[in-house]
Amino acid sequence: MRKAFKYRLYPNRAQTEALSEILETHRRLYNAGLDERRAAWENERHSVRYTEQSARFKEERRSNEFYARLNFSSAQATLRRLNLAFEAFFRRVKAGENPGYPRFKGRSRFESICFPSYGDGCRMREDEQGRARLYLQNIGQIKVKLHRPWEGTIKTVTVKREVDKWYVILSCDLGEVTTPCHRGPAVGIDLGLKAFLVTSDGWKVDPPRFYLEAQTRLRRLQRRVARRKKGSGRWRKACRDVARLHGHIANQRRDFHHKTARTLVQQYGTIYVEDLNIKGIARTRLAKSTHDVGWGQFVNILSSKAEEAGAQVKRVDPAYTTQACSRCGAIPEVRLTLRDRMYSCDSCGFTADRDENAALNVLAVGLGCSLRSPSTA
Ligand SMILES: [Zn+2]
Repeated sequence: MRKAFKYRLYPNRAQTEALSEILETHRRLYNAGLDERRAAWENERHSVRYTEQSARFKEERRSNEFYARLNFSSAQATLRRLNLAFEAFFRRVKAGENPGYPRFKGRSRFESICFPSYGDGCRMREDEQGRARLYLQNIGQIKVKLHRPWEGTIKTVTVKREVDKWYVILSCDLGEVTTPCHRGPAVGIDLGLKAFLVTSDGWKVDPPRFYLEAQTRLRRLQRRVARRKKGSGRWRKACRDVARLHGHIANQRRDFHHKTARTLVQQYGTIYVEDLNIKGIARTRLAKSTHDVGWGQFVNILSSKAEEAGAQVKRVDPAYTTQACSRCGAIPEVRLTLRDRMYSCDSCGFTADRDENAALNVLAVGLGCSLRSPSTA
């Protein structure tokens, strides 16, 4: 099993410059490779292969001082990334989909470099005082904050920039992991609008407040960008502040998702969630998916945490989970609207919080019940 460990890097000023320059060279290499493939196809109907580009890079780095400063394997990784973009493009063409030709990477669209084999141009080390350092070829030893140790054997190393912060991601091989069988009970989850989620046994997680709070700050910063002269130094600084706040919000959200997922996985062995990808999304669910709380990310985090703990996450068809009565299965003639916070059944008198009723239905569908469709009711 593979697992990724991400740590913050603290490069000094010279190292930051060197890292930025290397990232920029990778970006140019990517774009040059893309340009070459494009020209060869347009002029000679020749499709350039990865091996050709890799060999040419080996030639060029003898005379190009920028290329010479790149670790050879990491440059190959960038060319392979380009190759993947083209393979995906050809696959889409073949499938008759809208192909979308691979695009040139703008300055803010190329933020990471990969060292595909650990030890080649990159290594985790300790300095004389036993503090963690990341050694990178042509850059030296960079300070790392090792907030928790990594596990297993490091396989690949990725260096990434997020706005103005740098990170290292170690992808580690944990070997054959025998996960214990999780004996916890099953639960259904409704991804709510008022609440972030509600479980079938009534646990309610409130939506993340920080996002709303940050909105006010974000609007203020965006107004500042609008007021300043485009392209000026002060404008650039304001843009950076906006990007930084976006990054901050994303981090907080991810943190919140991790914590919520951990709590669920500790308690439950099988977790049923609504499948938000099913086509023909009903209006309430559309609202949920556009509501900016990142359901997709949450369900992904939940799934990977569950896998580690031997628990399971299963997606169920969410049709009628909001409308049906979770006790008797009746479906009301008048549809519930988003404004109806309580569910009350005319047939059996059952009343519950609207989202809790939905969560109970998600659990029921997960356990094999089918909710009646209104036409047969
Ligand atoms: Zn009922």
